[in-house]
Amino acid sequence: MSPQVLPGTERQLAFRRELLDRGHLIETGVDGVYGLGPDFEDVRRRFDALVTRVAAPDDAVRMHFPPVLPLRTLEATGYVGSFPHLCSVVHAFEGDAVEARTMAELAEKHADWGDHLVQSDLALVPACCYPVYPAIAARGRLSVGGVVVDAGAAYAFRNEPSEDPARLRAFHQREIVRIGEPAAVEAWRDRWRDRSVALLRGLGLDATCDTAGDAFFGRAGRMLAATQRRDGLKFEVLAPIAGDAPTALASFNYHRDHFGALFGLELAGGGPAHTACLGFGEERVVMALLAAHGSAVSDWPSEVRAQLWEA
Ligand code: ZN
Repeated sequence: MSPQVLPGTERQLAFRRELLDRGHLIETGVDGVYGLGPDFEDVRRRFDALVTRVAAPDDAVRMHFPPVLPLRTLEATGYVGSFPHLCSVVHAFEGDAVEARTMAELAEKHADWGDHLVQSDLALVPACCYPVYPAIAARGRLSVGGVVVDAGAAYAFRNEPSEDPARLRAFHQREIVRIGEPAAVEAWRDRWRDRSVALLRGLGLDATCDTAGDAFFGRAGRMLAATQRRDGLKFEVLAPIAGDAPTALASFNYHRDHFGALFGLELAGGGPAHTACLGFGEERVVMALLAAHGSAVSDWPSEVRAQLWEA
């Protein structure tokens, strides 16, 4: 089944055409899923390495997870209720030989064969911090000061097809998670907000910071997002790509004790830990750089190249 595709503006479509023509993105046949060309992927990895250098003082625990997570974990986060329109679950075939033949015939005709699949115990990862919370909870009570976890750059998936090249369905999210006492978590979040603006400005991007709300589902969701904004729980760092307004390149979420209570993350002194996470959308960062400095990476300003190449 082809989902509904969000149309892009003229500028977004022109930018996508340019990214494809220059070989930065590689067409797959569906909106929001692209292969990454050599220069694009090189810059993405160099940006990721730059984040690692900036994050060094955090002395983070490194963890790396695959782009699927246990369905039980997704259910525990409340994601299915909050973002039913974005979540994607892995389905698999468990039938007999006769059913397999029927299914294959439908698939060969590109007809709908979903009725022959059953829900598996896996979902696609919608936010790369989700696998971190149960993994840290399983280690037992936190030590004083809590922990920083760097989940690296992993693929996240959100089912929101769009013609805007900056709205990908599958993209690399560089997530760093802070788990600990409330004051420490808030201070870390604020420090990273400033660090991220400086980091992106250092790459010649017109980066600004603003409070934001998540794209929760439905009418009740809009109220949740309004509360999130009012309480300053979510910030984004934005820069121009090809939209009428700047696009979020990074987001900072303070969950208070939401995940701490859900996953049993216990503070050294007892009680649920507070958590915050930051996520860079790495493809968006590369696109913002291409939009700002041109599609020929070798012609980028030397001070930008110095940040990414010569460090
Ligand atoms: Zn997160």
